[in-house]
Order: sequence, then structure tokens, then C-alpha cells
Amino acid sequence: MTHNTFRFIIILAVISIVGIVITQLYWVRRAFDLKEKQFNQAVHIGLQDVAQQIASYNKHSLPSANVVNKISSDYYIVHINSVIDANVLEHYLKNEFIKHQVEADFEYGIYDCNTDKMVYGNYLSTSNKTLDNRMMKSELPKWDTFTYYFVVHFPHLTTDLASDMEIWVFSSMILLIVILFFSYTLFAIFKQKRLAEIQKDFINNMTHEFKTPISTIAISADVLGNPQIIQYPERLANYVSIIKNENNRLKNQVERVLQLAKLEKKELELKKEQFDLHLFIKEATASFALKIKEGKLENKTGELVYYLHATHALIDADKVHLTNLVYNLLDNSTKYCDEAPHIEITTQNQGNYILLSFKDNGIGIEKKYQKRIFEKFFRVPTGNLHDVKGFGLGLNYVKSVVEAHKWKISLESRVGEGCKFDLWIPKVLETKENS
Ligand code: ADP
Repeated sequence: MTHNTFRFIIILAVISIVGIVITQLYWVRRAFDLKEKQFNQAVHIGLQDVAQQIASYNKHSLPSANVVNKISSDYYIVHINSVIDANVLEHYLKNEFIKHQVEADFEYGIYDCNTDKMVYGNYLSTSNKTLDNRMMKSELPKWDTFTYYFVVHFPHLTTDLASDMEIWVFSSMILLIVILFFSYTLFAIFKQKRLAEIQKDFINNMTHEFKTPISTIAISADVLGNPQIIQYPERLANYVSIIKNENNRLKNQVERVLQLAKLEKKELELKKEQFDLHLFIKEATASFALKIKEGKLENKTGELVYYLHATHALIDADKVHLTNLVYNLLDNSTKYCDEAPHIEITTQNQGNYILLSFKDNGIGIEKKYQKRIFEKFFRVPTGNLHDVKGFGLGLNYVKSVVEAHKWKISLESRVGEGCKFDLWIPKVLETKENS
């Protein structure tokens, strides 16, 4: 799938999801409005009937206009120019609302027209489909001296109406599931595509890395195949050493790929033992220190210096994996360095941990890539600036070793100022034999 096709598919997918969501919202809104309209009509007719019934109960006539006034969809005022008996009003309200299927909790209040103050109010619930007031009927007061109007309010109208729209809630839920599923599929495609790109890069890189030593060996073999070479023992020795070196390089590459294959299968298996970190560091890096001093690494002459200040340096770790880890970090510090490499290895005690740091004066890593450098196959894109070979596996291996030991690693870096990798290793207080 080309990049443009992929982008086109993503854009289409997003447009269709947004379209479906807008359509659904539109229809839910319309259904709600329709419900509200039906509800208002039912309430209106019901209240009109209640007013009529109270008027005939009081043997009075209703005002000529505006008996039922809708203030908002959940608030109504009903004018009755006659005495309102709270008992009678409640009875009629209940009957009419049940008759017109007004299924929502409501409260009513009887007002004094002269003072606009509520003189009586009550709340009625429809939760069990039968209207059930909270007050005992015998407690309902009766007024017959003033002229009143009453109001009806539906405090939970929105939720009451929404709870009546099960089919819409259900279809919205289904839509949500479809959208989640769809988004997950897009995410999976996206991830697969990235993985495919990374793997393609890896294979290109690997082919390139293998091609160079193979062709060097082939050329050297051609030279050695010439019978005249016997007469030049120096050249002969030179070509043999080239073949040896290139063979070693190939061996290392194969080793790295095998290491990766092992890592893919399962977590690292550790053979832990207790040892002094300082002694270990000195031993593990001795040959590296010598080579860098003599300029035998990447043709760069540099130095490796130690500031081993931790007073307590006993740790519990797998020596083989730790050696590889140290070597990978030192290797990178030399590879990604434009000047004479100056590498510092520092230790210090920090609480229960030993902080082991590797600091270099290399090219550094941009902030936006710092989180990703531990990802498998990830290499900082450099365009054509630095032609440094690699598979993007070294730091991933470092991270696996750190995780297998349950240690922590962090990176501090600025472009042009080098990198500092910090490793927090728990210190061991006593050797097992002593404990
Ligand atoms: P590789 O070196 O084989 O590419 P790594 O996993 O060891 O793979 O490193 C990943 C990337 O992180 C490298 O490609 C490089 O861009 C960057 N990097 C690692 N170490 C350093 C360092 N010390 N200085 C600058 N960049 C580094």
C-alpha cells in the first residue's frame, strides 16, 4: 500500500466516522424533540382537563383565555379563578396524568395570586408507574378564602424523556462499539505498516552490512588466487588479515541478529551472581580503553576515564549480559561521535541504588527521538549527514537487560553535547553466604 493510498483510506475512514456520528446525533436529537413535543401536548391537555374539572367541582367558570401557560417545557402555570382544594387538585392531576400517559415525576405548587407566594406544594413520583405522593392525604390542607393559581414542574424531565428512548440508547451504544472497533482496526493497520517499514529498513541495512565484508573477502580471495602473490609475502599476510577481520565483522553481525532472534522468543535468562561493580567495570572495559587510546576503534583516538565514587559497589547481576550492555553503550559513544571520543564512566551511591553513568561527547540525540531510541530497529534519522552503520538493536538489547534485572535506565542528552545514560542498580548489602 503506497503512502498516499494509506492517507486516502485514513481520511475516508475519519470522514465516514464523523458523518455517521453526526447523523446519529441528528436523529437522536430529533427523536428527543418529538418525545418532548408529545409530552408537552399530553401535559397541556391533561392540565386543561384538570382546570375544567376543578372549575366544575367549584361550580365556577374558567378564565376566558390562557388557562394553561407553558413557561418552559418542564414548567406550567394554570390559572383558576376559584378556590383550589389541594386534595382535589392532586386527585385530578394524578388521574389526568395517568390517563394521558404523562410518565414523569412532578411537583406542583398552589400560589396566592395576591402575594405570589406558594401556599402549598407537593412532589409526586411515578417510579412505580402509579403516582404516589409523599404526604398522607389527611395532611393535605384546604384553603377556601383566597383565589389561587397552581404550577406544575417536572424536575427530571430530560432524564425521564431520555429513559424512554431505549432503542436510541441501544443504537448509540452499538455505534460506539463499531467506532471503537473501527478505530482499533485502523490503529492495527497503522502499527503493521510502521512495523513493515521498520523491517524493510532493517533488511536493507542488514544486506548492506553483510555485502561490504562479503565483497571485501571476495576481492581478497581473488588476489590470493593469483599464484604470483607467493612472491610477496607481506601482501599475502595483509590480505589474510583483511579476510580475518572481515570474517570477524560478519561473525559479529550474525551474532547480533541471533541475539535479536533469541530476544524475540523469550525474555532474557539471567545467571545472576554477586560481584563488585568497580572491579567488573575495570575488567570489562580494559580492552576497550586500550583500543580507543590507540585509535583502533572506528579509527578514532580518544579516552575512557573512570570516576568510580560509589562507596558501596556490590551488585547482583548477570555478568555476560552486563558486559554486552556496557559494550553496546561504549560502542555507540564511539560510533556517534564526530570528535575525539571522551567517555566517562561514573558511579555513585544514591539511597539503596548505585548510579552507574556513561557520558560521552558525541553528537547527542534530539529530544523528540529520546523516547524512541530503546525501540527495536529504531535509528535516529540523520539524512545523509552521518553514515554510521547499525541495526537499531543495541539499545533495545540494553533495555531488555535492564528490564530483566528490574533496573532503571534513563537518558539525558542535547544535540551536539553528547549523551548521558544513567543506570540505577540496587546495591546488595551482604553476600548470600553471610546472610
Ligand atoms: P545502532 O547503533 O545499531 O543504530 P542502537 O539501538 O544502539 O542501534 O541505537 C539506536 C540509535 O540511537 C542509533 O541509531 C543512534 O542514532 C542513537 N544513539 C545511540 N547511542 C547514541 C549516542 N551515544 N550518541 C548519539 N546517538 C546515539
